[in-house]
Amino acid sequence: MSAAGHDGSDLVTIVGAGPVGTLLALLLARDGRRVRLLEKRSDPRQSAGERGRSINLALAARGLTALEQAGVLERVRPELVEMRGRQLHDLQGRGPLLPYGQRPEEVIYAVSRTRLNTALIEAAAEVPLIEMHFSRRGIDVDPDSGCVNWRDAAGSVVTEEPAALVVAADGAGSALRNGLQDRGLLQATDDALAHDYKELQIPALAGGAWAFEPHALHIWPRGEFMLIALPNPDHSFTATLFMPALGAASFESLGTPAAARAFFAREFPDALALVPDFDEQFAQHPQGKLATLYCWPWHVRRVLLIGDAAHAIVPFHGQGLNCGFEDCVLLADLLARHADSQFACTEFENQRRPDTDAIAAMAIENYQEMRETVLAPDFAARKQLALDLERRFPGRFIPRYSMVMFHAEIPYSEARRRGTLQRGVLDALLAAGAGADSALAARLMGESG
Ligand SMILES: Cc1cc2nc3c(=O)[nH]c(=O)nc-3n(C[C@H](O)[C@H](O)[C@H](O)COP(=O)(O)OP(=O)(O)OC[C@H]3O[C@@H](n4cnc5c(N)ncnc54)[C@H](O)[C@@H]3O)c2cc1C
Repeated sequence: MSAAGHDGSDLVTIVGAGPVGTLLALLLARDGRRVRLLEKRSDPRQSAGERGRSINLALAARGLTALEQAGVLERVRPELVEMRGRQLHDLQGRGPLLPYGQRPEEVIYAVSRTRLNTALIEAAAEVPLIEMHFSRRGIDVDPDSGCVNWRDAAGSVVTEEPAALVVAADGAGSALRNGLQDRGLLQATDDALAHDYKELQIPALAGGAWAFEPHALHIWPRGEFMLIALPNPDHSFTATLFMPALGAASFESLGTPAAARAFFAREFPDALALVPDFDEQFAQHPQGKLATLYCWPWHVRRVLLIGDAAHAIVPFHGQGLNCGFEDCVLLADLLARHADSQFACTEFENQRRPDTDAIAAMAIENYQEMRETVLAPDFAARKQLALDLERRFPGRFIPRYSMVMFHAEIPYSEARRRGTLQRGVLDALLAAGAGADSALAARLMGESG
């Protein structure tokens, strides 16, 4: 069945007007497709964001490239705050700022998820080929007819007109995916992390100054747990505590405001001092769960899963949304190149799966690096050596973090493969006490001289 279908329908229905669903709508409409977006929430242009969940995200090259291709990067740019490196905080609140890369453009950007989503929805509202409907909760989809059932605010169930293609962009808890799984049409498992998270707001100082260095991602690495904070355009920071759900140092052990306050006073005193309503925030903000979703297939007849609905990952590489945006670019490209949308969707899942598996694994590995490895005695030396090798062997040695964050042209699977080889080079050079200019480095990098 072609998206410009033989049943007279050229319609693509997208369930979920989150960042991924809305960006995909923009890309498909750019290619001349008619798109209908169904979103369970009310229109964010008319309502305030969810309280206590002002998630801000790190956007990097893959996400920026996708926004540019959809023609919305300039609209989003005023919402971005540049982060040039990791600012570490020890128990005294001091620590180095470790640059992410070595070129001025090797930076990442903090953005509010709600504001990014709203900017995309505003852009979509200006496109005649995109119809947007809010307060419509998708319940299930018939993969043969392409008909989505949704429930309105009053609880009535309505069947949408059939579409040539239905894209489920309804997030990690996807109702459409669950419906297909219940019918045995796909298999999905949630690999839960034993660590949860909680967000806290650090306001701007009196007079509006930033409480910390604004152009950095702040990390308080403490081994089994960590606090991070990303800057917001209003000069506040959104901090997130990641720690085990159960055990000695865990959310379970922070059940009372006094226990939580004492823990912060011991582990993150500089952050605690900047949160005047700490007790209220800690008690009221939800404790979020983290998991990696493994699902297969993503494509069932007229239905395709995309973004978190297909492959939600843990947030420690700051890539979940970047990856979802990259999905959109690949899918739009395949649909533009292949008249048969079924073929394009099968190509999409086969091409994309190795990369989403790779970033899922790297995201878990990066949690260890952020909370623990940065504390290791050789961490700074290892990072410096990696940067030296990149200078000495340009284009051949690129630190794995840089490949993931700054090199959208290198697929995630390739970044992981090259990263493993490079780790071997770093290990050998560190063990031998040799630098990037040594003969050993040249030999390991496969150079003759
Ligand atoms: C703590 C945390 C930090 C993160 N940090 C980063 C980061 O730094 N960088 C990064 O790239 N990613 C990050 N992520 C991941 C990122 O948030 C997700 O990958 C991204 O939001 C996925 O986008 P999506 O549109 O696929 O899904 P979602 O953002 O979940 O959007 C789904 C949309 O579908 C709607 N919906 C849901 N169910 C239905 C239904 N039944 N019918 C209709 N509509 C429905 C929802 O209301 C929502 O609008 C982070 C995630 C977490 C939890």
